[in-house]
Amino acid sequence: PLAMSSDGAVIDVEKKTVDSNKGEETYEFQADVGRVMDIIINSLYSNRDVFLRELVSNAADACDKKRFLSITSEDSDPSNLVKPTIKIRSNKDDRTVIIEDSGVGMTKSELQNNLGKIAQSGTKKFLEALGEGGGGGDVNLIGQFGVGFYSAYLVADKVEVVTKSMQPNSVQLRWTSDASSQYTIAEDTDDSDPIEGSGTRLILHLKDDALEYLEPTKLEDLLQHYSEFVEFPISVWKEKT
Ligand code: ADP
Ligand code: MG
Repeated sequence: PLAMSSDGAVIDVEKKTVDSNKGEETYEFQADVGRVMDIIINSLYSNRDVFLRELVSNAADACDKKRFLSITSEDSDPSNLVKPTIKIRSNKDDRTVIIEDSGVGMTKSELQNNLGKIAQSGTKKFLEALGEGGGGGDVNLIGQFGVGFYSAYLVADKVEVVTKSMQPNSVQLRWTSDASSQYTIAEDTDDSDPIEGSGTRLILHLKDDALEYLEPTKLEDLLQHYSEFVEFPISVWKEKT
């Protein structure tokens, strides 16, 4: 069914339920997302370090889009001209790794279209390239076919995406999924740590066997391999001890 989202875009999603207490809406992932997630999780396990590269590259893409839109739109907010940044931090108590960018952010329909489904052509080719055997776990295929976001589930059993679009009058939203067949979207009413301007904060709830990624030195080590190709500053925050 087609539905009109609050930001005016026509979307084709199956809305399942609305929890009126929490204002939380539950949606089904497009079937291909489930297949792609299964393949990524089952075939790339031994290369799961790639999650950081994929998520940082999405953060950098979002910063790039914001810079482009800030330059090209006339009435843009001057705060958008500040050089975008990418911050990474871990929280040992919560067992989370957080990747935050001050990029374009996403509206509700963008969350649905970008994280709830996969560009048709992309999925088909990705599945073909991997083949039944999972393509020997070729990590380069993930980025190539536009399914990098789902690599978060190599290390996390639950992912939250807190985001605020740079489109005027956007509210902060929270997308959540535990990699089952569903995800939820709600307006984020937790105002303890609001996103300034626009951007996206990815909260990865690490699997029990992925706690090594809580170590800032491990994250820095992984970033060293490719962060020189990212033109925005990346900072890894260390916990106060
Ligand atoms: P790709 O980056 O190749 O498009 P991904 O699976 O990595 O594929 O990401 C899917 C889409 O989700 C991106 O194209 C983008 O629209 C959106 N997205 C992912 N991460 C972010 C982010 N940090 N900020 C804004 N949009 C994002
Ligand atoms: Mg990507």
